[in-house]
Amino acid sequence: MYLKSIEMQGFKSFAMKTKLEFDNGVTGIVGPNGSGKSNVGDAVRWVLGEQSAKQLRGGNMQDVIFAGTQNRKPLGFASVAITLDNADRKLAFDADEVTVTRKLYRSGESEYLLNGRNCRLRDINELFYDTGIGKEGYSIIGQGQIEKILSGKPEERRELFDEAAGIVKFKRRKATSLKKLSDEQSNLIRVNDILSEVT
Ligand code: ATP
Repeated sequence: MYLKSIEMQGFKSFAMKTKLEFDNGVTGIVGPNGSGKSNVGDAVRWVLGEQSAKQLRGGNMQDVIFAGTQNRKPLGFASVAITLDNADRKLAFDADEVTVTRKLYRSGESEYLLNGRNCRLRDINELFYDTGIGKEGYSIIGQGQIEKILSGKPEERRELFDEAAGIVKFKRRKATSLKKLSDEQSNLIRVNDILSEVT
C-alpha cells in the first residue's frame, strides 16, 4: 500500500484544483518558505478525519477553506481526496485503489466519501485502525512531534505501540461494547423501577 495521489481544491493555499502524484518510493516536497509544503501534510491529516483545528494550525475548522488573496476571492468550500494503492489489500476494502474524500462548506456542512460513496467518519477511522495511517497513526510525523512522543506520558506512548501492534481496533470495539452494556444496564434499572411502580 502506498499513497498514489492527493487532490486538493480550496484547501488552505491550494485555491485551484491541484493534484500531486507520488510513486512507490521516497518523495520530497521542496519550495520556498510559505509556499504550502506543510499544507500538503495538513491536507492528508484532514482527509483522514482530523477534528482538531489546532492540529491543522488554524483557529477553527473553516480556516482550512481558502481565505482569498489580494487577487483571488475566498472560496466557499475545501475538498481533499487521497488515493492509496491497495493492490496488496492491506486495507480491508476490496478494491485495488482506495480514494478517501473529505469536503467542508463554509456553512459548516461536511461530507466524507470512500471511493465516491458517502460514508461516515467512523467508516474511515475503522478502515485505517492499526495501519499506522489514521489520524492518530504514526505515518505523519509533524515538526516537534518526535520530541512530544519522547517526552509524552507513558499512556500516550502506549497508544503508538498499540497501533503498531494492531490492537487499536479491538480496544475501540471493546470500549463501544462496554458503553452499550452500561447503557443497557441503565435501561434495565429503569425498566425494573417502572415495573415496581406499576405492580
Ligand atoms: P515553511 O517552509 O515556512 O514551513 P511551508 O511551505 O510549509 O512554509 P505552509 O505553512 O504550508 O508553508 O503554508 C503557509 C501559507 O499558506 C501561508 O502563505 C498562508 O497564508 C497560506 N494559507 C494557510 N491557510 C490558508 C487559507 N485558509 N487560505 C489561503 N491561504 C492560506
